[in-house]
Amino acid sequence: MKILIANLGSTSFKYRLYDMDGAASSMLAQGGFERVSEYTPCIEKMLEDLISEGHLASGSELDAVGFKTVLGKDLSGCVDADDRVLAALEGFKEVAPAHNPAYAEGIRCFERLLPDVRRVALFETAFYQWMEPAAYSYAIPQAWRDLGIRRYGFHGASHKFIAERTAELLGREDVAQRVRQLYVSGAGSFEGAPLRVLSCHLGGSSSVTGIRDGLAIGSSMGFSPQSGLPQNNRVGDLDSMAIPYACKMLGITVEEAERQLNKESGLLGLSGVSNDARDVREAAASGNADAKLATDALVDSIRHWAGSFFFKMGGAEVISFTAGIGENDVELRAAVCAGLEGLGVKIDPEANASTIRGKEGVISASDSKIKVVVIPANEELVIAREVYRQVSK
Ligand code: AMP
Repeated sequence: MKILIANLGSTSFKYRLYDMDGAASSMLAQGGFERVSEYTPCIEKMLEDLISEGHLASGSELDAVGFKTVLGKDLSGCVDADDRVLAALEGFKEVAPAHNPAYAEGIRCFERLLPDVRRVALFETAFYQWMEPAAYSYAIPQAWRDLGIRRYGFHGASHKFIAERTAELLGREDVAQRVRQLYVSGAGSFEGAPLRVLSCHLGGSSSVTGIRDGLAIGSSMGFSPQSGLPQNNRVGDLDSMAIPYACKMLGITVEEAERQLNKESGLLGLSGVSNDARDVREAAASGNADAKLATDALVDSIRHWAGSFFFKMGGAEVISFTAGIGENDVELRAAVCAGLEGLGVKIDPEANASTIRGKEGVISASDSKIKVVVIPANEELVIAREVYRQVSK
């Protein structure tokens, strides 16, 4: 079964084509476009390329297109990307302005260009559906909660992959099996020994998720992908009083404050250098104090959230790093794990330094009680598997 996964950024379009056969999968092709202002020409070019490279005879040979939709109003899980999904994305377009309009447009484009190919959406919030009400509720009036304002959690496909892969690496087939079947059989009960993972997805957009026995118990991201860790140019956590105060003192509107918190904050806002972690790290190394502050603040926030989930789960067996920064920034990984020998975390500096560029590996010392691992992100595979299931139903 040929399944295309479409990754629609606000300025990029990336894709992967999979051939799925039950649990087995192989990636046939991948590609993408940057600085995108319109999806239609990209999708047309992608189809042309896939046909000329011999992966498809025509676009209609695709069995399905999968979308990693972010946040739906009153909708989550893996569902057909129909009018209900478009309405759910529209309902929360103000909450995820960088993501929801892009996915709505992308889904419509595929509908127009390949009307007979099934479209399926896997929401990033799906992995958090077993979170406890006490963990997802904000202490706000009922009328606010009735609007759907609560913690949701994001990067669900990525953290779910980590849940499965860490279980495999630790030889815990019981947990790996549970994770693979989550969206089919639900969480059910779990009798095995605990497997607690502090999962750090650190990239252009970053989050930390606590995973107990294969289930997410919480995320650093809350109502929107805006909260939690400092992002590339998005703010991360901010006290709610800061917005009305800044609006009043700077004489700006709420919309302008929102723009600045979305576009001019995070690593860019703190460093004044760049929204790219590599540039910030380089500037810090050459003595730029603001850039050093940005890097330190990211590390502090990762430790803050990982510490929170460590406490909530009563410990951890694994710390996992994934995505662009997590897979490559040796210094950052060392800083996150520094001084934690008392908790049973001991990094092997050589293993840490050599685990970069998409390499999977254990970077903790052999006598470290908690295993520290680097796992290349593979959210597309999680989506492809769920799309396969949805289409095979
Ligand atoms: P992603 O969103 O997963 O594609 O990750 C993108 C982020 O990873 C960008 O901020 C990059 O600067 C960062 N990144 C990529 N390579 C490195 C590296 N060698 N060191 C630090 N950050 C990196």
